[in-house]
Amino acid sequence: MTGHNCWGYSQKDGPSLWYKSYPIAQGSRQSPIDIISMQAIYDPSLKPLNISYESDSSLGISNNGHSVMVDFKDVDDKTAISGGPLENPYRLKQFHFHWGTSQKCGSEHTINGKSFPCELHLVHWNAKKYTTFGEAVAAPDGLAVMGVFLEVGEEHATMNRLTDAFYMVKFKGTKAEFRSFNPSTLLPAGKKYWTYAGSLTTPPLHESVTWIVLKEAIQISEKQMEKFRSLLFTTEEDEKIPMVNNFRPPQPLKGRVVRASFRKAGGHHQALPFHPAFAEGNPAYDRRGGSPVRPSEDKRGRAEGGSYESKRGCSLPASPTPTKKKPAARAKRVDTRLWRTWVLARTWSFPCLQALRSWGCWVFDFGKTGL
Ligand SMILES: [Zn+2]
Repeated sequence: MTGHNCWGYSQKDGPSLWYKSYPIAQGSRQSPIDIISMQAIYDPSLKPLNISYESDSSLGISNNGHSVMVDFKDVDDKTAISGGPLENPYRLKQFHFHWGTSQKCGSEHTINGKSFPCELHLVHWNAKKYTTFGEAVAAPDGLAVMGVFLEVGEEHATMNRLTDAFYMVKFKGTKAEFRSFNPSTLLPAGKKYWTYAGSLTTPPLHESVTWIVLKEAIQISEKQMEKFRSLLFTTEEDEKIPMVNNFRPPQPLKGRVVRASFRKAGGHHQALPFHPAFAEGNPAYDRRGGSPVRPSEDKRGRAEGGSYESKRGCSLPASPTPTKKKPAARAKRVDTRLWRTWVLARTWSFPCLQALRSWGCWVFDFGKTGL
């Protein structure tokens, strides 16, 4: 995205050193971030994403020495996204990827500390407000980047078209024609997302991006993933350095709020059997999604200060492990206790009642009440 050569992903020029040439690296809205799903705030005012991509707008594929990229015709709003957190359509300029050496790492954003092997970024710009991509790239509301996680699993049919073209752009600085590719084929079926205000994840790290990170990942095969790793950071004349681990680690949240387009699913509550008071949906009991917590200041700052690159053999810094006991864990304990009590009561009540009856006592049968 930049054409600068003074930065990279190695120990000598990697993300922990970028601040020397780009002080904004330590700014207040840097990307990527670790998205902590329980701290994201469900915002019912967020609209569904409206993605309208056309097949005839892709132009070429290239290796810029940092990633592999496909660029698009952006003279009109035919290939654009709107809706979601966006005020107006943003035109697709290019997409590219970030990946690791193994399945353990590669994505830039992480979810609850979990990395994915690869992340796709579709970069769009606000052509309603700015006249060129160059102008938009440095403006606070200039860009909208959609992030899609890739996980290793089934082969992805249309990804083959892309990975089959990689041999033409193996070396840094190479490019090839790449027409009639519709990037919507790379998107998951589900379009639930998180959104927050962030930055470019590569120098010049401008704080100009409205991030839209899709919750659902797509799958590609290990073989397809290996083709990404066969690309090179280097030119044909240089010593070969495989293009891997081209990702920036998560940056401090610094008070930002991550909004979710969806209610939290799979909450920690287990509904107790037979009693309507414990049923899901009962507002007295089921608080999932009803009272989101505000994210606390992210003080981990794990990308700053340390030598991140020295750990780049895919042994990422430890995922966030809050020292305080989570409310979720407490609620689960309470649930378990209630459930055990209920089981014991059901197990012992019947024989006890029978015994009392046999002794001539009058006993009300609670079993018939459904309790
Ligand atoms: Zn990117």
